[in-house]
Amino acid sequence: NAKKRGRNRVVIYDDSMESANRERLQLENDLRRAVELDQLLLHYQPQVDALDGRVTGAESLVRWNHPKQGLIPPFKWIPIAEEMGLIEDVGEWVLRRACADLVELRAQGHSLPKVSVNVSALQFHDEFVATVSSALQDSGLPPESLEVELTEGIMVSNQESVVSMVQNLKDLGIRLSIDDFGTGYSSLSYLTRFPLDELKIDRSFVLGLAKGSQDVELVRAIIAMAKSLGLEIVVEGVERMEDLEFFLGQGVSVIQGFLFSQPVPLTQLSPLLAPEHFLRQLQRLQGSQTK
Ligand code: C2E
Ligand code: MG
Ligand code: MG
Ligand code: MG
Repeated sequence: NAKKRGRNRVVIYDDSMESANRERLQLENDLRRAVELDQLLLHYQPQVDALDGRVTGAESLVRWNHPKQGLIPPFKWIPIAEEMGLIEDVGEWVLRRACADLVELRAQGHSLPKVSVNVSALQFHDEFVATVSSALQDSGLPPESLEVELTEGIMVSNQESVVSMVQNLKDLGIRLSIDDFGTGYSSLSYLTRFPLDELKIDRSFVLGLAKGSQDVELVRAIIAMAKSLGLEIVVEGVERMEDLEFFLGQGVSVIQGFLFSQPVPLTQLSPLLAPEHFLRQLQRLQGSQTK
């Protein structure tokens, strides 16, 4: 019976494996040409200071417009691009497009202080600094208008090469942010070893607040630590007014979350940059809350 079940399972497994493999192979094939076929695009999510509604920046978030499957979110293909050694091409495309987009926005008269770009640990090689420098030069974007989001996976490495690379990046004049803070490795020593400007509190902590878990204490500690290190703080994934109020109560006001806006294509970003857009949205949110 066990043998029979085993054999059946093997057969079923084989079938689904085969189709999964086929899909994966197809995706890999398609991904290989996605950059040259111009199928990648960037969405932007504004970061808003809830004290005055000012937009402090926007994060670029890559999407793949697959000819058959439509927009594919990054979690479904960035890891594949990393495995395939394609992440450097994707990353360079993102960097150049984000710089060019901000220059273009400003040329149209919109004001946006900075754009941030995600960087994969596998993209973080020697050539990366030169790529950033070249993207800045070719676009004409002032370095202080570009922010690079590093992850704990990059920073946790004590290698001198990583430390000096991050310093070289900083020396270009760009801003450095630490993304998804608190979700990766537990070593905190890197926070003082690297010249960081900003810390992003991960969405998972905000979700914890809703459940009334001990995350509240953890978030308070993270905020206190970030402040004492002189880091600016951005909270990711704020969807509810209660969560915004919690952070305001902790003296943290810069928010990136669906409460203000989902990530949107560039053409839909510019109206959000109009003066007072988010101030009015805040007033509406507060109004509907007291009702
Ligand atoms: P991330 O860098 O932490 O980006 C924030 C993610 O949280 C985005 O998902 C954003 O849409 C989502 N988010 C923001 N606010 C809310 C909210 O209030 N509620 C909910 N439910 N979600 C919210 P997205 O765009 O799917 O990106 C996921 C991850 O993919 C990013 O996480 C980043 O790690 C990676 N990624 C995106 N673009 C790039 C890129 O250009 N290069 C690399 N290497 N990775 C990228
Ligand atoms: Mg990010
Ligand atoms: Mg993040
Ligand atoms: Mg995150």
